[in-house]
Amino acid sequence: MDKKLRFNSATIHGGQEPDKAYGSVMPPIYQTSTYAQKSPGDHQGYEYSRTHNPTRSALERSIAALENGKHGLAFASGMAAMDTIVKMFDPGDEIISVNDLYGGSYRIFTQIFEKYGLKIHFVDMQNIDAVAAQINKKTKLIWVETPTNPMMNVVDIKPIASLGKAHDIIVAVDNTFASPYLQQPLELGADIVMHSATKYLAGHSDTVLGLVAVNDDALHEKLAFIQNSSGAVPGPMDCFLTLRGIKTLHIRMQRHSENGAAIATFLKENPKIEKVYWPGFSDHPNHKVAKAQMKSFGGMISFLPKGGDKAKAIKIVESLKVFTLAESLGGVESLAGHPASMTHASIPKEVREKSGVVDGLIRLSVGIEDVQDLIEDLDQAINLI
Ligand SMILES: *Cc1c(COP(=O)(O)O)cnc(C)c1O
Repeated sequence: MDKKLRFNSATIHGGQEPDKAYGSVMPPIYQTSTYAQKSPGDHQGYEYSRTHNPTRSALERSIAALENGKHGLAFASGMAAMDTIVKMFDPGDEIISVNDLYGGSYRIFTQIFEKYGLKIHFVDMQNIDAVAAQINKKTKLIWVETPTNPMMNVVDIKPIASLGKAHDIIVAVDNTFASPYLQQPLELGADIVMHSATKYLAGHSDTVLGLVAVNDDALHEKLAFIQNSSGAVPGPMDCFLTLRGIKTLHIRMQRHSENGAAIATFLKENPKIEKVYWPGFSDHPNHKVAKAQMKSFGGMISFLPKGGDKAKAIKIVESLKVFTLAESLGGVESLAGHPASMTHASIPKEVREKSGVVDGLIRLSVGIEDVQDLIEDLDQAINLI
């Protein structure tokens, strides 16, 4: 399709066309490892499925279309995508990372990449001067996650992208929490956007997959080289499921955001709740940036019960009936989690508490159910403490 489509059409048609063989409207699941050649090197663009696979290519074109990028790349997981990005750098290179980030991202930085000689500085990116202060000649990558997990801080992508440009540093944004529906980092000047497509993009809690989009040809070539060399690629079935999920991203995100707003308001008005972290509130410290940078505020909310101890948080998450107590987020069903003992357990207690991830904190991924059922469920669980 040549015409550049609006976002809500690009989810369905971006980079897609009926399959050439039989006109199949959805890309077939090309469950094959290899491709017949007429003569050595004479093939139809596909040789081996670690390097390329037509179902994966369809998904890679889709994420490029959604992020307004030129190139897309798909990986076996979000962490495999991040692993590939960081492998572009050499021992001695330095990385500046947001300090309040996904537990697994913190783990791969500190327990895998520091071992290979990369130095990672964790910085509160709500303060742009703090980012600038860490830049030196060895700085090669700035790693942004926004909104942050689970504190829902919002990082202003534009000034960080400008800093990167001024110092020839690559700026990558983990866009998992927002999805391209809420925010498009490449449009804001970032060089790389990365997703755990496991979450909102696939959207149905049935697939683990990672996606990347970039504009620069040389950057794409570097990433594709590592993708093929290291081989952390997704299978065609998972690519198909993610493509199917993406087709409803815009309507799911709209409902996630509506339900999220209603639940954040309910919690804020509840006398048993101490604090609600959600960037849609006008008194959220980064509300202005969130409003400018994001289309709406999504369905991720964290909150702290009054008296905020671990026992109360555990009592609430155990008592929920419509919300499921589980790791992960971004699916159609509502999930609740206890970051300190689940998603963020790999971060040392004193490090996580510094960014607010205390033992009493509860994180919600608000799904697309009837919001009244969700509110009643939270109400009965909170009334037990
Ligand atoms: C889940 C998640 C990841 C990791 O992705 P996987 O698909 O689980 O490997 C990275 N960043 C964020 C913000 C996430 O929520």
